[in-house]
Order: sequence, then structure tokens, then C-alpha cells
Amino acid sequence: MKKIWTLIVIILGISADSFPQTEFDRLREQMVKYQIEARDVKSKTVLDAMRKVPRHEFVPEKYRTEAYKDHPLPIGYGQTISQPYIVALMTELAEVTKGEKVLEIGTGSGYQAAVLAEITDSVYTIEIITELTTQVKHRFQRLGYKKIVAKNADGYYGWKEYAPFDAIVVTAAAEHIPPPLIEQLKEGGKMIIPVGHPLQVQDLLVVEKKDGKVRSKNIIPVRFVPLVRGSKK
Ligand code: SAH
Repeated sequence: MKKIWTLIVIILGISADSFPQTEFDRLREQMVKYQIEARDVKSKTVLDAMRKVPRHEFVPEKYRTEAYKDHPLPIGYGQTISQPYIVALMTELAEVTKGEKVLEIGTGSGYQAAVLAEITDSVYTIEIITELTTQVKHRFQRLGYKKIVAKNADGYYGWKEYAPFDAIVVTAAAEHIPPPLIEQLKEGGKMIIPVGHPLQVQDLLVVEKKDGKVRSKNIIPVRFVPLVRGSKK
């Protein structure tokens, strides 16, 4: 069925705009079932959030029909929107509950932030590329994610004004865990962060702050675009 739709789109040369909404809904349901539930993401909160966010609205027009496939996609400026499963896994590991305050580093398309916003009303997100921040602010407005607070800065420094956070989700590869982010993590909070060589495979870590001590657990190998350094705090 999926192939048939792709074929129809190609044959008629119709744009993704005329791809029926119900078809996106169907593809999204399949994404959750075969890519996420099948890989053992169990949290109902996370699965529900993944079922709600219209991922095709977060990718460039020309990739809309590919939005629900099992891989990352380019979003311009050399950046990517993560594979759906990785977004679901990171969200599950962060164990965010309603009302908690979350910080995301690396807004990109805004998709991960939107998934978090389906779970809690307090989502803060930082992006270093000005154009992406501008785009994403419009996207959040258009899609009704009006409570997400986004800013253009170097996320290495976190967002002191709103700290401490119950969870911090870093979606770019860091060579080390940024100390300001550890500082801004609440006692008992969790940080999910890919750490390792920026151009190779990194380790997805869960970093916990408990009784003033920081412990980290290695979950799986991942590949993220690098966390670059800027000057804007
Ligand atoms: N979470 C995104 C995908 C992340 S791609 C989504 O759901 O679409 C990683 C993003 O991190 C890119 O947009 C990149 O520009 C951004 N980034 C890289 N270094 C950064 C930094 N120091 N601070 C904030 N954002 C950064």
C-alpha cells in the first residue's frame, strides 16, 4: 500500500501537499508499531506522544513522503532530524512526566521538542543556527506548540535563567558532558546525551545526578551531528 502511494505521487507528479492526511496518519501509526514498539519502547506516554506529532510537518517539503521512514532526514544547513526510534528512545530514557521542566539542546526541526511538549508544558530548547531557530519558532506557532520556548544560542551553556531542569536532552554529539548542563540538572534529574568523537559513532549516555554525585550509564551506540561551539550564551 505504501509503495502504491509512492507510485501514485511519482506518476502524477503531485506534491506532498496533496498526499492525503489520512495517509500520513496511517504511516505514523505504522512507524510507532514497527519501528518503536517493536524495538521495545514501552512507555505509553512516549508512544502516545509519537502518535500525535505530525513528523511530516517537521521535514523539508521534498522529504515529506519519507517522514515516517526508519532513518534520519536532512533538514538543511548540514543538519538532520533524528530517526524516529532514537527520538522515542531518548524521550523514554528522560522519563519526563507532566509538569516537569525539560531542556533540549539542538532544536533542529523542532520535532524532538514537540514530542516532549506532548508530555509536559515546560519545554525549553536551544539551537545554534539562527535560520533554524527562526524557522522553528514559526513552525511551533503554526502547529500549535505555543508553549515551547526556543532561543538561538550555544546550548553548551544551558539556560541558566530557567534552571534547574528535571531532564536535559542533548541531540548533538558532545566530546564531553558540558559542565554547565550538569550544574543545571535537578537533583534526581536525568540527562540524555550522545558522547564521543563527533565524526564517528558515539555512546548514548543517561547521566543521573543523585546525592550530589553524577553517574552515567551507556545505552547504545548512536551517530549524531556534532555539538559545535559558538560564542552566544
Ligand atoms: N533535535 C532535532 C535534531 C537535532 S540535529 C530535531 O528533532 O530535529 C542537531 C542540532 O543541534 C542541529 O540543528 C545543530 O545545529 C544543533 N547544534 C549543534 N551544536 C549546537 C550547540 N552548541 N547549541 C545548540 N544547538 C546546537
